[in-house]
Amino acid sequence: MKKLRLILGDQLNIRHSWFEEDRKDVIYCIFEMRQETDYVAHHIQKVVAFFEAMRTFSKKLQKEKFEVIYYTLDDQKNKQDLSKNLMQLIQENDIKKFEYQLPDEYRLDCQLVNFCKELDIESESFDTEHFYTKREELKEFFKGSKQLLMERFYRHMRVKHDILMDGKDPVGGQWNFDKENRKKIPAKHVPPSPKIWSKDVKDLVELIKNQNIKTIGNIQEDDFIWPTSREESLDLLDFFLENCLKHFGDFQDAMTPQFWSLYHSRLSFAMNVKLIGPDEVIKKTIEKWRENSDKVKISSVEGFVRQILGWREYMRGIYWAKMPAYAIENFFEHDRKLPSWYWTGKTKMKCLQHAIGQSLNYAYAHHIQRLMVTGNFALLAGVDPNEVDEWYLGIYIDAIEWVEITNTRGMSQYADGGLVGSKPYVASANYMHKMSHYCSNCFYDHKEKVGDKACPLNSLYWHFMNRHQEKLENNPRIGMVYRTWNKMDEETKSNYLKKAEDYLKNIENL
Ligand code: FAD
Repeated sequence: MKKLRLILGDQLNIRHSWFEEDRKDVIYCIFEMRQETDYVAHHIQKVVAFFEAMRTFSKKLQKEKFEVIYYTLDDQKNKQDLSKNLMQLIQENDIKKFEYQLPDEYRLDCQLVNFCKELDIESESFDTEHFYTKREELKEFFKGSKQLLMERFYRHMRVKHDILMDGKDPVGGQWNFDKENRKKIPAKHVPPSPKIWSKDVKDLVELIKNQNIKTIGNIQEDDFIWPTSREESLDLLDFFLENCLKHFGDFQDAMTPQFWSLYHSRLSFAMNVKLIGPDEVIKKTIEKWRENSDKVKISSVEGFVRQILGWREYMRGIYWAKMPAYAIENFFEHDRKLPSWYWTGKTKMKCLQHAIGQSLNYAYAHHIQRLMVTGNFALLAGVDPNEVDEWYLGIYIDAIEWVEITNTRGMSQYADGGLVGSKPYVASANYMHKMSHYCSNCFYDHKEKVGDKACPLNSLYWHFMNRHQEKLENNPRIGMVYRTWNKMDEETKSNYLKKAEDYLKNIENL
């Protein structure tokens, strides 16, 4: 029976059991489509990375004698819409069965379910064989629980998959070494230069420009830095294990304007499009640590494993448990527009200038930059979560809705009212100064509260706390903050609020 099998742009998993099967009578199809380039303005590097990875994957399949139909963006036959392209191929090739791997995104899931309902041939969906968990697993795990605590889920995952376990106990005697993951980068410390590629992607950039696709950010057309094949992704993992793992834990939360990736792995794109699997990353990491346990601390290994086995799987589970309602959550009813400088980096606040600037240049910022710099400001200023989501979904190389929206709307903007985070991640300039080197050359003074050069984060922090007191004051994790606020005299409070109002009125010029 002749089958058509769809491979989406983030399903480039050569280890999938599909590719162990007979090649006869199976056509694989991969499409570059306006449907995918246009649902948000993506970073140019993100579009290039996807297309380059899809093309490389298609060539690899063809080399291994699989039959592949690949539509480039400018292919005459490309209808730029998934359902229309599939229908065309089904009709042209006398297909008797349509098969697809379960998409990670809700919108594509709905599209494919509806498409199959309309079909008059057989259809079947398959697991992607990528994640540790099935879509519904987290929902089942937390059935009947009021709180969906990541830590509880993470411990369950450790035990279930026997990862970093010593019998029934966690290796190192502790489940979580988070407290050891918060060091600032010492003044003269130089991390290893990031491993990057220098690929020539002029043709792709020209294609994207000729098709008038709206993109954001910058690209060096003859110096494209991201891994787009399985081999490159494995190389990046090796580089990380060799050079970065040993300091990953210590400097996981550190920020500095001098270096853009520090000890982070930059594996999120490779993993999210499934060039490599989380199981491979975790297995190799633990192997490396076992060989070098004198040099690599358990806090680094556990910290890294937690991000992938814990947070990554947890966010996926939350997404499938809570969509589509999650996409419109707005607990604080925030409605401000995102300042236009989020698209240019032109602000006098050094922390935002750098985090946005490097996002525009590399389509990358590490977790704490996303959470505590760009996310923190948007939350303090009361920006509409739709605007915040759109920015994060566009700008990062690894941004795919299942992991973007749960991190942005949930963890960063607390728009889900505390489902993902037990308190809002907000901070004043004190935190920024403690964790980064941003404040020393800033136009604003991190110590000033309400003066001319006062760092906007200071008054905005109290403005946020004051305007949401009713919603937050009973949260045991922020009780202390309200005790401090309530003890302040009325004049101090009013000065903070007035200063914040001034800044908010002038938000475009900060
Ligand atoms: P490392 O620091 O080296 O961590 C290793 C891996 O752990 C990452 O590659 C990633 O796969 C996983 N990981 C770490 N933290 C998380 C997390 N919170 N949720 C899920 N996986 C995690 N990650 C995305 O992949 N896509 C997104 O669109 C995305 N948007 C985010 C938006 C906000 C506001 C925030 C706060 C975080 C977001 N994250 C997102 C999570 C995290 O910031 C990135 O996964 C990480 O920065 C990618 O860089 P890295 O590969 O160097 O990660």
